[in-house]
Amino acid sequence: MNSPLPHDLIRKEVRDLSEYNAGLALDRFRDAYGIDCVAKLDSNESPLGPSPRAIEAMREAAQGVARYPDAASGALRAAIARSTGAEADRIIIGNGSEDLIGVLFRAIIRAGDHVVTICPSFGLHEFGAQAFGARVTKLPFEADWSFPVEAMKAELRGAPRVLIFSSPSNPAGPAIREEAFRAIVTAADPATLICFDEAYVEFIEARHRFDALGLLQASGKPYIVLRTFSKAYGLAGARVGYGIASSAEMIKALMRMRNPFGVNAMAAAGAIEAMADTAHLERVLEDATTERQRVASALTGKGYACAPSQTNFVFFDTGRPASEFTEELRRKGILIKGWQEPPFTTWARVTMGTEAENDAFLAALPDISGKAA
Ligand SMILES: *Cc1c(COP(=O)(O)O)cnc(C)c1O
Repeated sequence: MNSPLPHDLIRKEVRDLSEYNAGLALDRFRDAYGIDCVAKLDSNESPLGPSPRAIEAMREAAQGVARYPDAASGALRAAIARSTGAEADRIIIGNGSEDLIGVLFRAIIRAGDHVVTICPSFGLHEFGAQAFGARVTKLPFEADWSFPVEAMKAELRGAPRVLIFSSPSNPAGPAIREEAFRAIVTAADPATLICFDEAYVEFIEARHRFDALGLLQASGKPYIVLRTFSKAYGLAGARVGYGIASSAEMIKALMRMRNPFGVNAMAAAGAIEAMADTAHLERVLEDATTERQRVASALTGKGYACAPSQTNFVFFDTGRPASEFTEELRRKGILIKGWQEPPFTTWARVTMGTEAENDAFLAALPDISGKAA
């Protein structure tokens, strides 16, 4: 039996929060639907998994699990410093980058603060700030799925506490262009923290790539860039991500808000080896790029509107309530994520799995083009 919860025990901001729209774990899927999953395409995980070297490193690290990990994750920070060129004291490691989003908001948001993001948005960018009483403004993408630069510049004039968005965007998929990003950074008030979430940065095609970190660093404005080992590096279950900030002082403050031992020894060891195995990463990126082009054109051919993607997923309009659409796919063993954020409640996001998984997804989709034979 549940004992009653005092009605005012939980903070109002917390009571009012939406639940995170998480993907369905495989064992829970089996319990609920009584069938095996054919294609798990709802959480942007890597179908190739991590580098075998990462798994080996985690296995080895497990031998030392009686000891607390290095609270500063020194070895991983050094490896990230070498690969990014940022000094190690401007790097923070988190229990996934979602942990760092929480740390950031805990450290800086006061009730009534203004936070600006884009729509459709990554849930935590919005809810994480609302949990501390922030007012969140969500700016819609342009009709052609380019980033809303003018609207962002207009909001930045009011010096919001934080501008936070992902590029490439989760869930939409496009990556911001360099000129657009430069215009936004230039327009930002020095009192505004720019949080640039690059969870999918590895997937960007060469012609769209630019040095956002360098551009931010040169701007002299306060920023934090977030990255993760959960997506391209295939370590979602290990929980490890990192942030690179504009100053060591900011990292020191964020470290005070982090759980001291929040990053476990296996995850940190795995991340170092995952980063070192560039051949494995190349295979992951090649597959994801080929598949997202193939799946997007198949979706278009079947009559579905797609947002352009520089990621390992495709966002598309199902043409009907996405919850119904995804439920029907689930009964066929196919998991994708229906979007719940207005006005995108007819849209869904499908992660690029193996070629066979993507084929199973495409085969299960009705043709709505109206030109089917
Ligand atoms: C997946 C994702 C994250 C969080 O990843 P972690 O697993 O917590 O490292 C952060 N931001 C965006 C935009 C994501 O898609």
